[in-house]
Amino acid sequence: MPGQKKDYYEILGVPRNASKEEIKKAYRRLVLQYHPDRNKSPEAEEKFKEISEAYAVLMDDEKRRMYDMYGHEGLSGAYTREDFFRGRIEDFEDIFRDLGLGSFRSIFDRLFRDFGLGLYEEELVREEVVDLELTPQEMLQGAKKKVQYSVLETCQSCGGSGAEHGGFRTCVACRGTGQVVRTSVMGHMTYTVARTCEVCGGRGKIIERPCKTCKGSGRVQSIRSLEINIPKGVANGSVLRFRTDRGVGGAREEVILAVRTWLKKTPYVYARDGDLVVRVPISPSEAVLGVTVRIPAPDGLVDVKIQPKARPGAKIVVKGRGLWRAQGVRGDLIIRPVVVVPRESRDAKKMYEQVNKVEKTVMERWRDRALRLE
Ligand SMILES: [Zn+2]
Ligand SMILES: [Zn+2]
Repeated sequence: MPGQKKDYYEILGVPRNASKEEIKKAYRRLVLQYHPDRNKSPEAEEKFKEISEAYAVLMDDEKRRMYDMYGHEGLSGAYTREDFFRGRIEDFEDIFRDLGLGSFRSIFDRLFRDFGLGLYEEELVREEVVDLELTPQEMLQGAKKKVQYSVLETCQSCGGSGAEHGGFRTCVACRGTGQVVRTSVMGHMTYTVARTCEVCGGRGKIIERPCKTCKGSGRVQSIRSLEINIPKGVANGSVLRFRTDRGVGGAREEVILAVRTWLKKTPYVYARDGDLVVRVPISPSEAVLGVTVRIPAPDGLVDVKIQPKARPGAKIVVKGRGLWRAQGVRGDLIIRPVVVVPRESRDAKKMYEQVNKVEKTVMERWRDRALRLE
């Protein structure tokens, strides 16, 4: 269907904060209305596809979160339409059985023929988790990044056989057939049972000299890299999924790259949920007199005034200038002054000595009071 893709919540007629129960209820109502076996109008089929896709996505926490944050665009970058349904087939079958609509698989295969049966071969899909560090600016504004991941590939040295050239011998147990046939007699009936040979695992041959490259497994780990687009406003610790090429170099598995985005930590800057915490070094005199510091917030500079005599643990909160919280709301920028002692000049040292004299009596009295043990 050309044109703009419709909003999933609108398709199902539920509010954006709908619970899973509400979504399920809405889908059950609509599927009775638009199931192609019950509704012969030309739009029914398209409508059926729409509501089923909307249901599949909104019932999956991670996909729903992606959709809420980035809309259809965010999803299509990370998932194929086939992925939308992955892992949900049993759920659909339950609903269909319950409503007396027959098998979901059969109607699904008929309507989404272009998916083929790939959907059920889940064991060929592997998820590779990669941690990626980003600066606050990159998290807020998006970035292009290269990430590396590993795939299992057919070993080039042995072509996947696992043996050196000519490094096989024929299995004695099955005489190279890969099968062991057992015949048993019961009464005047003879049963023949063929079993996979346990000695050679059904290959009919045994590796005598294993391939040095893959040590006999026939597969090797290889490193690939993929350039990915980090969208604007990723949260600390959130996961983005990217598809990689399938079956390159004879690898049968498909790798889904799950990229976890983290704020690059420094001793001075770190994330706490969606808040960006900045520890600002200030000198003793700045602590006494107060100071205005310029903080590079993710989206530009912010001038923050640190009041005179800020107490240890004091913090200044700049609302809404931090990172993104998972829910798509900006967190705060939190400034924590930390008193440090700079390498002082000779002049400064003299002055400190004077200050020290003045403070001496006051501090002694203070300590007396503070450390008294009664
Ligand atoms: Zn090999
Ligand atoms: Zn054998």
